Amino acid sequence: MADLPRYIELFESGELERRVMALDARLECCNICPRRCGANRVDGEIGLCNAGKLVAVASVCAHRGEEPALSGTRGSGAIFFGNCNLRCVYCQNFQISQDPAGQRHHEITTSRLANRMLHIQNDLGCHNLNLVSPTHYVPQIMRALLEAVPQGFRLPIVYNTNAYDEPSTLQELDGVVDIYLPDLKYSSNTIAMQLSDVAHYVQSARSSIKEMYRQVGNLQIDEEGLAVKGLIIRHLILPNDLAGSEDSLKWIAQELSPQVTVSIMSQYFPRHKAMQMPPLARSINSAEHRRVINIVDVLGMENGWMQDAGSQEYYLPDFNAEGHPFERS
Ligand code: SF4
Repeated sequence: MADLPRYIELFESGELERRVMALDARLECCNICPRRCGANRVDGEIGLCNAGKLVAVASVCAHRGEEPALSGTRGSGAIFFGNCNLRCVYCQNFQISQDPAGQRHHEITTSRLANRMLHIQNDLGCHNLNLVSPTHYVPQIMRALLEAVPQGFRLPIVYNTNAYDEPSTLQELDGVVDIYLPDLKYSSNTIAMQLSDVAHYVQSARSSIKEMYRQVGNLQIDEEGLAVKGLIIRHLILPNDLAGSEDSLKWIAQELSPQVTVSIMSQYFPRHKAMQMPPLARSINSAEHRRVINIVDVLGMENGWMQDAGSQEYYLPDFNAEGHPFERS
């Protein structure tokens, strides 16, 4: 029988409930993410991320297109949260991340979120719970977990984030999250501001990833090839080196470890507003792809995955279609 997830001990000691109370209190003058916009989300105000008191759940599905150690044979149980604290002009999920009016229709209580978690475990039979863009809803997610555990919820938890997280919020997830799956999007704050409308992304993301690494360390895989615990950093190659790939990968190798698991993504496809921005209006080419693979080799980073060039179409979701956003009949 598999080991119990670490959050069970936190539940039984009362620590999980203490953290839920502490996080709830922070929603009154919200500082859950580095924007620290101060919205009183308990009293009906909406933050800069467009999130309020209730949690917007845009889609729930067994995701078979994540990294092999997450999707396994039964899929990774993805909960796609609506709204976002970034404004990426090329966002692949823009239908749910940047449509606040549409997401109001997807808002649910924490009890219903707990039911979705249990559905992923009991009905879909997934290997793990994959929280996609969870940053702005950490208090609600933690409360839902508090409700789901006594109903038998036991899946490992994956925190799948843009990395614009507040380290003090991540500290409340210590012992709760088993696998951290952050992006490392940029190595230039100027480009981050132009493309994602965010200040100090580089320092914020790097501090957050350091905190994640402190909590879970290098990726551990079980005998079935499934991720059990650890850090996986995703890096999406952008055209014209807008992602600053070499600098970000060097930072990982030098400031964390060359042993860190990295997932190099070549699936970029111009969506949302990207077609109006010439440097972003095309997929990456094979020379750009080869260059990043070479950097990974030179840095001695041997753990992880690299998408093949030309894999864009496979990864494009449609959240407006009926059913599974990635699997169209
Ligand atoms: S999570 Fe949303 S409401 Fe809270 S500080 Fe960040 S942007 Fe503001």
